[in-house]
Amino acid sequence: MSEPPAGVPHVLVVGAGFGGLRCVRALAHAPVRLTLVDRTNHHLFQPMLYEVATSVLGANEIAAATRHLFRHQRNVAVHMTGIERVDLAAKCAFDGEGRATRYDWLVLAPGVVTDYFGHADWAEHAPGLKSLDDALVVRRRVLMAFERAEITPDPAARRALLTFVIVGAGATGVELAGAIGELANFTLRHDFRAIDPREAQVLLLDAGERVLPSFAPSLSARARRDLERLGVTVRTGVRVGDIGPGFVVAGDERIATEATIWSAGTRGAPLLGTLGTPLDRQGRAIVGPDGALPGHPEVFVVGDAAHVEDARFGTLPGVAQVAMQMGTHAARCIRADLDARPRRAFAYFDKGQLAVIGRGHAVLQVGPVRLAGFPAWIAWALVHVTFLIGFRNRVITMLEWARTYFFHRRAGRVIVGGD
Ligand SMILES: Cc1cc2nc3c(=O)[nH]c(=O)nc-3n(C[C@H](O)[C@H](O)[C@H](O)COP(=O)(O)OP(=O)(O)OC[C@H]3O[C@@H](n4cnc5c(N)ncnc54)[C@H](O)[C@@H]3O)c2cc1C
Repeated sequence: MSEPPAGVPHVLVVGAGFGGLRCVRALAHAPVRLTLVDRTNHHLFQPMLYEVATSVLGANEIAAATRHLFRHQRNVAVHMTGIERVDLAAKCAFDGEGRATRYDWLVLAPGVVTDYFGHADWAEHAPGLKSLDDALVVRRRVLMAFERAEITPDPAARRALLTFVIVGAGATGVELAGAIGELANFTLRHDFRAIDPREAQVLLLDAGERVLPSFAPSLSARARRDLERLGVTVRTGVRVGDIGPGFVVAGDERIATEATIWSAGTRGAPLLGTLGTPLDRQGRAIVGPDGALPGHPEVFVVGDAAHVEDARFGTLPGVAQVAMQMGTHAARCIRADLDARPRRAFAYFDKGQLAVIGRGHAVLQVGPVRLAGFPAWIAWALVHVTFLIGFRNRVITMLEWARTYFFHRRAGRVIVGGD
């Protein structure tokens, strides 16, 4: 494919996550010039972040350089920079250094950021899990806690070091808790002399009534049992009131801990606040049936950043399938505009949801189908390997999973850097 000449319409896509990537790919043969902007240089497979955070995989296995992914698509230029502001009237987006990019169509796919519900100071003590940097911080804190416990003679201090608190029992919290439970009970079991890693306490806290609230109650109950089997203590109906250096206040209890991880909330990317169009309570941009901003048919918001009402499913969840399908749909709308055809409304096709709970256990829900245990884990592994980008990543990931499954070994246990 040859480079489109200057003067052809310009589509600016912000965010190289699931939504942005799908949109750019779907416009590969369209008579447009594309610019894909992301503040990182990689596309990240977020559903497997917890595996980097718990040493199963290395960072390279779940990320791919965006520029490399589009090396053969001649109508796209990849720019690594952060967009700070959009001027809808001028059809212009500005990056942090004031560089302006004009567009004919704008596709915003910036995702969400971790939300501490008005307690920004908690971030320092309880990292979230949204980026590779986050995953490496969590990994370092978890591994460091065991290392420090090994050389700490005071029993109370040692106990605090071996107490891991995960706040939020959605899929991320459940997957993290299961993986840390397994790390303590199996992977590290023979590696220390002064401590027994099996004495570690993994607490999963949530203000709601059950873990995995988006799943059927029977699967939530199953996930809870599987977590408890891995030594995780699940406490639901408990609200976290404060987080500080070395402690978490949960209900009336003050828990001494040196490793707290926050997976309780997200809100729309700050960029959306510069649009001046309506946002929902979670800071996501409210879009019309075609995925475009009301009054601005040339601007689409896709994926986690969008608040979309679906006639069958209500408000769509922040999951990869929604982002991918919306990205493709935005591309279809742009093609329809180019051909002077009417746009179609976005219709979501629900492919179900999956969550993994330690080695060999998962829960799966597709429409009326409910599955738990090993068959669900196989489905989870197949789906994740299929959507993971890059042949090398798929092969290495499968080998590492096999190593973890059969020998409880984990590849990513080297501690580097500090936070
Ligand atoms: C730990 C974790 C586990 C998950 N597990 C699952 C799962 O099992 N199944 C599932 O379906 N979904 C899962 N999800 C959700 C899924 O990853 C998201 O729904 C999906 O990534 C959303 O895609 P997106 O394109 O909207 O945004 P993202 O994938 O978040 O991509 C947003 C991109 O925009 C970039 N960006 C943001 N702001 C700017 C800016 N101002 N300028 C330039 N670039 C910017 C970011 O760097 C990022 O690359 C999980 C998410 C997490 C965090």
